Amino acid sequence: MSEAEYLTVQEALTAVLAGVSVLSAENVPLLDALGRVLAQDVVAHDSLPPFANSSMDGYALIAADLAEASPQSPATLRVVGDVAAGAVLDVIVERGTAVRIMTGAPVPPGADAVVPVEDTNEAWRNRERPLPEQIQVNRSVKVGDYVRHPGEDIQSGQVILEKGHILRPQEVGVLASLGINQVPVVRRPRVAILATGDELLEIDQPLQAGKIRNSNGYTQAAQVLALGAIPVQLGIAGDTETAVRQKLQAGLEANVDLFISSAGVSVGAYDVVKAVLETEGNVGFWRVRMRPGKPLAYGTYHGIPYLGLPGNPVSAMVSFERFARAAIRKMAGHTQLDRPTLSVTLQNEIHSNGRESYIRAIVTSTRAGYEAIVTGDQGSHIMTSLVKANALLIVPEGVTYVPKGDMLTAWMIDWSETRF
Ligand code: AMP
Ligand code: MG
Repeated sequence: MSEAEYLTVQEALTAVLAGVSVLSAENVPLLDALGRVLAQDVVAHDSLPPFANSSMDGYALIAADLAEASPQSPATLRVVGDVAAGAVLDVIVERGTAVRIMTGAPVPPGADAVVPVEDTNEAWRNRERPLPEQIQVNRSVKVGDYVRHPGEDIQSGQVILEKGHILRPQEVGVLASLGINQVPVVRRPRVAILATGDELLEIDQPLQAGKIRNSNGYTQAAQVLALGAIPVQLGIAGDTETAVRQKLQAGLEANVDLFISSAGVSVGAYDVVKAVLETEGNVGFWRVRMRPGKPLAYGTYHGIPYLGLPGNPVSAMVSFERFARAAIRKMAGHTQLDRPTLSVTLQNEIHSNGRESYIRAIVTSTRAGYEAIVTGDQGSHIMTSLVKANALLIVPEGVTYVPKGDMLTAWMIDWSETRF
């Protein structure tokens, strides 16, 4: 395959995304909905606030009684009752009277405003204080002042959250206030993770000659978890077709929505994943004009979407960031599939090879704007380059040199500013 036959990153991404769809909906308890995507519109069956209530500790009264009130000539009102939050008072407020009221308590009938306790001669805050017989108010108020009106926030019958809305703590709060404790959300994607290679050991094994521990299986399971999806760890398959087939079978039995494997998709003599997928799947093997992460396999295995990532740990993680992350987010109902990006000023020069490059970097916020420093050795086996990084700088296709001081787009993996 010549370089011209390679796919661009965008072409590969478009093809991957075309092969996955939004998963079905399920009802889950309210807190389990956090971070997930609403699968249906939610209609409010109550108004919020549900009743007119006071926004201050003070006195409920009739605004017209205070028309002339001022510090020099306060108005005097007879106190006819007391209402706390959670209580209901049957007394009707008439001209010349007031009811002591606490924040959140229902405004009694007849009253059309509240005056804060600070504006009277009867500040009882922080003290047990008997109800006064009368109060003096040294200001005027307008009708409706310090009253929270029913339906001011949410009206019964209103679509309060639309299908597709992401549920954050504030949405959880709104749903709780409406008494909605089962929420229709998009199912969490179940993602099979398979590591392949005769060189791989389980992580609790001591190192042996020629062997390394399976790190990709854990990086990828963690990436899946960080997306709110469910990793199904298939473990390690050695470089035989039987071993790979057996592990993939376990994934089918675990009802996964997506397979992700690492290694075995390049042109090495032992790349048996390719052999299995070519006979039992419908998988294409691509070369992507991307660095790191050139080899990529994509298609279906027994009808389930399959994404084969490169073996080198940095290539695997970056390919996951670029392709698997978007696919999983699409399945989970998200429409914003990419990471947030920033425009950053480069603090050192970069040489590239003309493929779209994802350079590990530390982005910091400075008075002059966002600045980026490359995290040293960019070899695709240097895992610490990712540990140091909070961003991937994107060097566009066709660019082989970026001088210090130029602007680049930073794909923000996270917002931490940890140094290594
Ligand atoms: P391959 O794609 O099989 O040629 O693997 C490329 C490189 O990635 C080799 O150096 C492998 O040893 C390494 N590698 C493959 N799988 C893993 C894994 N699960 N964890 C860590 N390194 C791996
Ligand atoms: Mg291998």
